[in-house]
Amino acid sequence: AKMREDRIEKTKTVCTYCGVGCSFDVWTKGRKVLKVQPQAESPANGMATCVKGKFGWDYVNSEERLTKPLIREGDHFRETEWEEAIPYVARRFQEIKDKEGADALGFVATSKETNEESYLTQKFARQVIGTNNVDNCSRYCQSPATKGLFRTVGYGGDSGTADDIAKAELIITIGSNTAEAHPVIASKIKRAQKLHGHKLFVFDLRKHEMAERADKFMSPTPGTDLVWLQAVTKYILDQGWEDKDFLQNWVNGLEEYKQSLEGYTLEYAQSVTGISEDTLIEVAETIHESESVAICWAMGVTQQKNGSDTSTAISNLLLVTGNYGRPGVGAYPLRGHNNVQGASDFGSMPDCFPGYQSTEDDEVRARYEKAWGVELKKERGRDNHQMVEAIHKGELKSLWIQGEEMGIVDANANHVQAAFEKLDFFVVQDLFLSKTAEFADVVLPSVPSLEKDGTFVNTERRIQRLYRALDPTGDAKPDWVIISMLAKEMGFDWGYSHPSEIMDEVASLTPLFAGVSYERLEGYNSLQWPVHADGTDEPVLFVESFPFDDGKAKLYPVEFIEPVGVDEEFDLHINNGRILEHFHEGNMTYKSEGITRKTPYCWIEVSPELAKDRGIKSGSFVRIISESGSVKGHVTVTDRVQGKELYIPMNDNNELAINKLTNSDVDWATNTPAYKDTRAKMKVISVEGEDPI
Ligand code: SF4
Repeated sequence: AKMREDRIEKTKTVCTYCGVGCSFDVWTKGRKVLKVQPQAESPANGMATCVKGKFGWDYVNSEERLTKPLIREGDHFRETEWEEAIPYVARRFQEIKDKEGADALGFVATSKETNEESYLTQKFARQVIGTNNVDNCSRYCQSPATKGLFRTVGYGGDSGTADDIAKAELIITIGSNTAEAHPVIASKIKRAQKLHGHKLFVFDLRKHEMAERADKFMSPTPGTDLVWLQAVTKYILDQGWEDKDFLQNWVNGLEEYKQSLEGYTLEYAQSVTGISEDTLIEVAETIHESESVAICWAMGVTQQKNGSDTSTAISNLLLVTGNYGRPGVGAYPLRGHNNVQGASDFGSMPDCFPGYQSTEDDEVRARYEKAWGVELKKERGRDNHQMVEAIHKGELKSLWIQGEEMGIVDANANHVQAAFEKLDFFVVQDLFLSKTAEFADVVLPSVPSLEKDGTFVNTERRIQRLYRALDPTGDAKPDWVIISMLAKEMGFDWGYSHPSEIMDEVASLTPLFAGVSYERLEGYNSLQWPVHADGTDEPVLFVESFPFDDGKAKLYPVEFIEPVGVDEEFDLHINNGRILEHFHEGNMTYKSEGITRKTPYCWIEVSPELAKDRGIKSGSFVRIISESGSVKGHVTVTDRVQGKELYIPMNDNNELAINKLTNSDVDWATNTPAYKDTRAKMKVISVEGEDPI
């Protein structure tokens, strides 16, 4: 042990802060994280990283780490041993299952966990408990993008690699603050623009860094992207600019789709989106003239009532113009969390086994039944949103949340927290006593990525290994170990001694991952799914065909749904999203000194016009009130926002927690919260004050 304390160890890991999936060696001495060192062979990032990947690791040694299981006693927690906690949780789960049925229990995995842990979460729900009530936090971000791609092209992942985005002659980003949310991809785009003259069009509410750099920046009325997308597609078809060969050979449904676009004239689009007809024509012309087009999108698109439909409209446009199936083109939903792609890929979803195999498919179910030795449920289970509603209705009695700050991160936080209070039995598994954990009956201490082995999938569908760099803290354990212990206690001894064995099981049951193994992923090697049995993978999708029965994609008609918008009383629209330095509610980054020194807290961005109108300035202290709740914080006056548009970073877990304001509206097709469709009013508390920035 002494030797280890004195030696500098270099261990390959993958960043946990965004879907770019940067990999690097982490240098440690004892428990101290000295630095991270990207390698030339780091497949997603080369030698690059951003501030979070570089400095965001102090949290692993935070004094606040949980080191023992906790059991509630009245209004406080008592520290205990695993020997007590595991049988206790198992007994309570069993009692609830016996009394109320398996569907009275729910399970939420996190994209901070590894693929193997997502797999075990759904295996636990399905095999041990017997319910499909299992979901993960992509419900809060990217499910609509996945839905849009499934409808049209059959795989819910980026069409190519991050380098393919940079190869596109025209790069369009929609509702994506790429420079702050996906910094290393943004650098690739900037380079493509600067060195190779590729064009960048940005559609966003906020004039962020990429908007400043764009060849063209368009700021549509909130929640109306679907309309300009359909109008541009219709214009392209009206001009006869569609890719006729591609449509003929590779796409079904053109006639019906054309009819569905009838009302989407340029005039209508201008009136709804506020983007002029001339600008829309210019967008259409540029798409037509570009050899290759890649469209990137993120939460500005998906976290709306029509998030799935707008994602579908993006894919339709790419199909009509033949921008699929070769390098440098396609659809790029930019995944937020490090493993948001993998959490869904590996089956923590209410309607799919791993690899997006439907629970309703008899052949698929039979395969898992044979492997797991139990009868499995066919009907779709509840997603996160439905679980919260079911708790309020008294139908769901128990919840096990892993690594998710759901009490702050889900929309309409007050409503979600009220649900937690109604649970009969609530288990939270986390590194810290999070706000969500404060409601729990049992808290199980888990470990961060640096303290375990496993794999993540990044936004490029790239599966990468992470190796254990540090020993677990105190009695904390990797999630895969905790889930396995509980399964064993409940009569299912899985017997895994290493995550590689879990991956072997996944590969044997899941065509999408048929050829995945830890040997093939050794070191900096990676594989981009689908991975065939012989170990070959597909960096660019749809080169030979689309994964539908006849090998053809589908144009999928969609219609515009009006966003909530503003009214006389709630006259301000609130946009929210990331900032560069912090990650989500900040449970990790606020515990990393290198980051808090730069950015200690969040703020409210107000336009110069609005500031003038309300007589406030940078530093003023205000309360923002919506129909769901209220927050308070300091104002920053900036022309990044316009008119009555406010921007609040989502990275506050306290007074300025954005989800005290958001409502319970959801994307109709996936139940993803419409976080970006919130209206509010402002009350000035104090005009004076220091500028916090
Ligand atoms: Fe790379 Fe994203 Fe991590 Fe930054 S946060 S180092 S871009 S993976």
